[in-house]
Amino acid sequence: MINFHPDKALLTAYAADTLPLSMTLAVAIHIEFCPSCAQRVAELERQLAQTLLLAEPVNETDEPAFEDMLSFILQQPEAPTEIEIKEPAIEIQGQTFWLPRALRHIARQNWQQMGNIGRSRLLLDDQSAGRASLMYLSAGAAVPQHTHKGMELTLPISGAFRDEMGEYIPGDFILRDNQIAHQPQSKDGCLCFALLDAPVQFTQGLPRILNNFGDLLY
Ligand SMILES: [Zn+2]
Repeated sequence: MINFHPDKALLTAYAADTLPLSMTLAVAIHIEFCPSCAQRVAELERQLAQTLLLAEPVNETDEPAFEDMLSFILQQPEAPTEIEIKEPAIEIQGQTFWLPRALRHIARQNWQQMGNIGRSRLLLDDQSAGRASLMYLSAGAAVPQHTHKGMELTLPISGAFRDEMGEYIPGDFILRDNQIAHQPQSKDGCLCFALLDAPVQFTQGLPRILNNFGDLLY
């Protein structure tokens, strides 16, 4: 069962479409896995629509404007009924993984590999919330213990990983601040969406070697 969810402020901002693109993607991936957050977002969207309607003053002088808006909407090209699925599945080390719908149209860099950790950076124009990537921890992989100068969001897509604070499964929305030092590891392999807004800081080991890891993670 999914244990970690976006908080109400994030879900509200998602419903209002005011989040940076990378955070929008993260919440969109989560609600593909989480029916209860999907339902909350639907309810928030309904409330927002209601608020907007109530905010519109209804009087005679508004009618032409409303007519204009209606005819403008009707002139818009019809939305395609079926979205072309660009890349429904990806292959990593001979294994096939299904991508969440939210990620299928997002361009990515090729995989960069360091030891048993791989990264494919998402090519987003908007990096205001940080850098987004797909990370793949091979079976038995462990990220050296680190903390953060900023925020770290990790969202498993396939497989599980654990750290000192628990075990995480696909859909878990794990948002961490710079207070936490941890060492993520995966027994059977894990594909994650990751979003960082600052480099990581290693808390153990040899800094020079670990710097290369830091470049890979951020
Ligand atoms: Zn949820």
